[in-house]
Parts: sequence; structure tokens; C-alpha cells
Amino acid sequence: MADYENPAKLFLEDHSVESLADVIAYTDFLRKESGLSSDPPINIKNIIDRFGMHAPQAIPLPQQQGTTIPFLGTPQIIIHAGDPASRQKYSIAHELVELLFLELPGGIRPDRLKENIFGIKKERICQKAAGNLLMPRDSFYPRAMQIGLSFQSAEILADVYKVSLMAALCRMTDMYPKQSIFILWQLRHKPTELKKKVPETQIEIPGFHPTNLPEPKLRVAWRYGDYKGQFMPVDKSIPKDSSVYIAWENNQPSSGAEIIPFGSYNVKAFIESKPILINGERYVLSLVR
Ligand SMILES: [Zn+2]
Repeated sequence: MADYENPAKLFLEDHSVESLADVIAYTDFLRKESGLSSDPPINIKNIIDRFGMHAPQAIPLPQQQGTTIPFLGTPQIIIHAGDPASRQKYSIAHELVELLFLELPGGIRPDRLKENIFGIKKERICQKAAGNLLMPRDSFYPRAMQIGLSFQSAEILADVYKVSLMAALCRMTDMYPKQSIFILWQLRHKPTELKKKVPETQIEIPGFHPTNLPEPKLRVAWRYGDYKGQFMPVDKSIPKDSSVYIAWENNQPSSGAEIIPFGSYNVKAFIESKPILINGERYVLSLVR
């Protein structure tokens, strides 16, 4: 194995980092330095080898997807053993971006308490930059434009770039700004409903009526992007007659033009959905366009 060379230090020799675009430029630099073009799929192992880093190790990480620890003076990337290979690849890309943040003014301590020049937005910037590392704009954008904005296009590109469908859906949403939202739905209660829940072991007190928990609904667990300036609030529920709910109930993909309940308005849009299993639980991925 070659001696470790810090990729972030090398990049900062003749670049400065003040914006997301600069972090994106760092990911282009990582590929170029490692002899990789923007053609898919990106072999991240070339980058690890180029800089003489330890091979990433997969171990069970209960609360996170990836982390980096110093080992004999060289960063050791650790990824969650329970994640699928495509997710692990994204975690490695994310950790490679974190190496840059370690070198920036302010730095990020392992306890994450100290802010850097980007403040609290660091995680989101790492995710976006990791997206560009694995799905370079140079090659992804023309492909996304050619095959068009759709769920199926994201599935095709996930396969071409060997990334997870969720990663490809995010990247697709980036290529079509203000035209699409990617949503992850989960059957659950609103946090406020759970707060009102009274434990079943509660002793009945005269005059006090325990609140029964209403039925869980299919709610927004996570979302990305906006549709014509409309955002989707987390925990927003979708009615049972929606194609999203039907996808969940039948465990089958579904699609349709329907009224989508956004934060303050109901807007008619086309929505495509597909059920997926995450840790044994059924969720639904949707693309609103
Ligand atoms: Zn991170």
C-alpha cells in the first residue's frame, strides 16, 4: 500500500473552499487525481488506493451509516455492515467529503460540537457532494435530460451508476430543480399523537380519560426537492384513496395524476410510487413531478 497522502490537504494547496460549488470541485478533483473519468460507474476503490487509505471496513454501526477514525496516522473509513453495498458506497463517498471538512477553518471535532464555515448545514453538503462524486454532473446531467424526469429513469440511472435507488432519485431531483420532489413515506403517528398516548398499564383515575392513539397514517418521513415552489412538510399524511397508499397496501408500484396535499395548498401533480423494505419495514418511495 502506498503511503497516505491527505486528499483534502492536496486540494487546498491551490483551491479555497467557501461554497458548495467548491466542495463539489473537491469531489471532481478526487476522481481526476485517481485517474477516473466521469463515466459510470465510479469505482471508489481507485480513490481509496490513490491516496493510500485503509480499505473501508464494515462493522455494525447502530446509529450511523459511516464514520472515520484515525488508524496508524491514516484515516480508516468504517461503514455500517447492515447496509446494502450501494448504500455503503455512498457512505464511503460521504466520508471522503468529510476529510475536506476536517481541514477547513474551524474544523469538525468528532463530537460535532464545533461548527465550520458552513455551520450546521455540513451533513447536507456532504450528501450533495457525495452525490456528485458517485454521479458526476458531467455524465449524469446529459443522461437525465435524455431519458427524462421519471421514477423509471431514476431506476435506470441507479443501475448504470451502481448506486441505491434513493441516491439516484435525489440526484434526479437535483437535475430538475423546482420540478420534482422525492418523498419517503412511512406508516406512523404524528409525534404529537404519541405524546398524548397513555401507557396501557396506566391506572384509571376517576375523572381522567386516557387518550386512545388514533390509527397510524402514511406520513412523510423524509423528502427532497420542491415542486413549483411547493414544499412537503415532514409528517404530512396522505389519504387512503391516494395511489401512494395503494402502493403501500398492495405492495406494488403505482402512479397517477392526483391532488397532492402540500403544506399550505393542494396541487395536482403526477406521482409515481414504489414500495421498498428498510430494516424489514415497508416504506414507499414517491416521485412527484
Ligand atoms: Zn457526515
